[in-house]
Amino acid sequence: MTRKRTKVGFVGLGLMGAPMAERLLKAGYPLAVWNRTPEKAEPLGAAGAAKAKSPAGAARGADFVFVMVADDAALDTVLFGEEGLSRGMKRRSMLINCSTTSPGMSYRAATALRSLQVHYLEAPVMWSVQEAREGELQILVGGSRDDFAKAKPVLEAFGKDIHHIGDLGKGTMMKLACSLMVAAMLETFGEFFTLARKAGIPFETMMEVLHAGPLESPLYGFAEQAIVNAGGRPNFFLKHMQKDVNLATDLARQLDVPVPLTAHVRQMLTATKNLGRGDEDVSAMLDVMAAWAGVPLRG
Ligand code: NAP
Repeated sequence: MTRKRTKVGFVGLGLMGAPMAERLLKAGYPLAVWNRTPEKAEPLGAAGAAKAKSPAGAARGADFVFVMVADDAALDTVLFGEEGLSRGMKRRSMLINCSTTSPGMSYRAATALRSLQVHYLEAPVMWSVQEAREGELQILVGGSRDDFAKAKPVLEAFGKDIHHIGDLGKGTMMKLACSLMVAAMLETFGEFFTLARKAGIPFETMMEVLHAGPLESPLYGFAEQAIVNAGGRPNFFLKHMQKDVNLATDLARQLDVPVPLTAHVRQMLTATKNLGRGDEDVSAMLDVMAAWAGVPLRG
């Protein structure tokens, strides 16, 4: 099927969803979008997407429908709530869930959609807003190999490193293993930074050492930028990282895996959220760590 004939729906136009949907539009797919807060659909509407009145409206006639919402509860609402996607999707179409949700949610959604002859893939992503804009996300797919093969050309609109991890559930589990590492790296960065700062080492010097030596990681580059641009537009809300770490902890409990470091970061994220900072960038945790150490985040 050519791009012009492959109709796509997109639900959830937050920090990540909006640039992902924009990539699909730019790639030439006829696109219908829906977001709970309708204003967020305006820029895509102006760029040529159809603005649907409900999730079901965005799904009508679509061959593929993408969802990029906050969590399990949001996914459940847009799928099965009033005028939800399940009411609009046509037979043999495919729902591709890019949100980070639980493996259990994937099983429930796939089972319910199967009874409507709708296919389901989980396709959570790595990287952040800038990579979504540039079409360079890493995508960790769980689902059947046939569904993966059908979806891959469309996923290429916003992803460049696209893996079929395994059957349904495995894409999400891979993502959650990555998420706990991201959270732990943020914590280690915070300890590195606060110790070096309290020791009087200039920020530029500690960053040079970090980037030039064996500790280099793009993730530490994100943390560095978050300090440089503190108070700027968030890239990843702290409340979502807390949700990811909670999901990873649940999975570890189910699989009987000790994850002491993750349990610790979970406390840090919970404390930062309860300080009223859940709707800030996740780097707010670094600000709290700096306060604990008695050093300023910047300067
Ligand atoms: P976001 O900006 O908070 O967007 C969340 C989206 O979910 C918004 O469209 C929001 O609608 C919608 N939503 C929330 N609750 C809803 C409900 N009950 N019913 C309907 N819609 C609802 O978050 P994001 O950064 O785009 O993240 C989306 C997903 O990607 C999350 O699962 C996150 O963990 C994951 N992720 C994020 C990043 C990142 O760097 N940002 C990277 C990888 C993965 P409103 O606009 O109306 O609030």
